[in-house]
Amino acid sequence: MSTYWEAVKEAGRKLSIAGIEQGELDARYLLEFVLKERGISFDSAWYLLHRQEEMDPQEAEEFWKLVGQRGERIPLQHLTGEQEFMGLCFRVNEHVLIPRQDTEILVEAALKRLHGGERILDLCTGSGCILLSLLSFGNRLIGVGADLSEEALDVARENQRRLSLPAKFVKSDLFENIEGEFEMIVSNPPYIATEVIEGLETEVREHEPRMALDGGLDGLTFYRKIIQGASGRMKRDGWLLFEIGYDQRAAVCALLEQEGFLVDECIRDYAGLDRVIAARNRKEEGGTRDV
Ligand code: GLN
Repeated sequence: MSTYWEAVKEAGRKLSIAGIEQGELDARYLLEFVLKERGISFDSAWYLLHRQEEMDPQEAEEFWKLVGQRGERIPLQHLTGEQEFMGLCFRVNEHVLIPRQDTEILVEAALKRLHGGERILDLCTGSGCILLSLLSFGNRLIGVGADLSEEALDVARENQRRLSLPAKFVKSDLFENIEGEFEMIVSNPPYIATEVIEGLETEVREHEPRMALDGGLDGLTFYRKIIQGASGRMKRDGWLLFEIGYDQRAAVCALLEQEGFLVDECIRDYAGLDRVIAARNRKEEGGTRDV
């Protein structure tokens, strides 16, 4: 038997040995999860008050099982089933990319360019985190999310129900089954070059969906296809916003310019790396009238 404090320390040590950087922090998150399941809302104040108490045997069993799984490098979010994004709680599983903090920059860049009532298309929607955040914080937006994976769409629809937002999620290979025109298209597509995937950390390489990561030989496959299809789905001045890899700015800007888009802004992430591109469609033939 051990106290909460001893259990967290010991689990932290085990996770660190397994190669997890902030092992003790993950141990605390796992304890929080176990206690939450039992109706206890764990926070620093609770921990301070109760950490010297003996852990209940059932709690301990559940906790050590999760610590073992985390030690096998299963992502924390797959164990708890959720990830916060834009202050909202999203359900996640092994069929969707875990929402990343960097992607919030894309959402913020999109919100800055919206006034209200726009139709928005999110390609490669995954958990739906981008589209649902836009609908949550924007004004009367109409949202469509597309993904090729039926399992990912199940997750996106569950998130939609939990957040009570009116998005429509469609099974579609990019634009294939998408109807209508949009004022804005957003996407955080798979953008990692195939051969780079093998060098990623175990959690990502072995547990996140390959199809959410793999951007083809040069990582740019989805940008090419989306940029080629986008102007036909929007009027002149419609917005196209992407998350990009840190070294893809020049290549994606060139693709955009080739297809008649004008790059408006490239935004860096908190690490100072290029992360988001916002561009406008300057082609006339994409739509029937100017917006
Ligand atoms: N759009 C989702 C996200 O940003 C999924 C992205 C992906 O699967 N590449 O989290």
